[in-house]
Amino acid sequence: DTVLSFRDVVARYAPGAEPALRGVSLDIARTGHTAIVGPSGAGKTTMFSLMLRFLQPESGTLTLDGVPFDQWSVDDVRRRIVYVEQDTPLVPGTVRDNLTYTHTGAGEDALWAALREVRLDERVRSLPQGLDTPLSGATVSGGERQRIALARALVGDPEILLLDEATAQLDGLTEAAVHTAIDRIASTGAVVTIAHRLSTVIDADRIFVMEDGLCRAAGTHHELLESD
Ligand code: ADP
Ligand code: ADP
Repeated sequence: DTVLSFRDVVARYAPGAEPALRGVSLDIARTGHTAIVGPSGAGKTTMFSLMLRFLQPESGTLTLDGVPFDQWSVDDVRRRIVYVEQDTPLVPGTVRDNLTYTHTGAGEDALWAALREVRLDERVRSLPQGLDTPLSGATVSGGERQRIALARALVGDPEILLLDEATAQLDGLTEAAVHTAIDRIASTGAVVTIAHRLSTVIDADRIFVMEDGLCRAAGTHHELLESD
């Protein structure tokens, strides 16, 4: 069952520029963990930009639930597809503001559960005002900010979660915890991760290998190693 599909997608950042995608066709399953792997410049981030409607394809079609993207509103798409960048900016405000600004109805339990999933619950409890501690100044480190951004995505139980090297800066224990969270989301929704190396996405259910704007191979980690 496919939630998102690319058909012959060509994308270019400027008229006359080299295409960033040269005709990509692939399907992303409604549940499970899909990884997009490839070197810098392969077109991975461009695929995310298309999924989030920051960029329109020059030709080809993207569909969500089988319906072409141009028939969805941008709001619909961005409600269903949640993106955690490598360095997601936080909003000015408290820890709570950062966890709730896209999920205004979230209850206290859901906030702590998300913080626990990124192993920040103890840390936030120890802050002077807990969830209501302002994030200005040096209250949290860069790595903690990254984990707050991830926790914010987890609060909403996203249907489609896009992660850009989201575990690259985490220590081993936190990385393991985040993998557990990814598995949780992937049991009911789609998690799509971007990575440079195959070795960081061993546990993905399906991997697409991008190179020079094209999808060159697809399979599990095991299948891709065998075909090498
Ligand atoms: P990704 O493939 O995940 O987008 P990159 O390896 O392309 O990551 O980029 C890693 C970092 O290096 C990013 O902060 C990016 O802005 C920077 N970077 C990438 N390419 C260049 C370049 N040609 N010149 C300067 N900085 C670059
Ligand atoms: P990846 O995420 O795999 O590193 P990108 O999707 O960022 O690759 O880049 C694919 C191609 O598009 C590269 O040639 C890159 O230089 C180009 N590109 C990416 N972002 C922009 C941009 N904002 N403006 C112009 N060209 C871009």
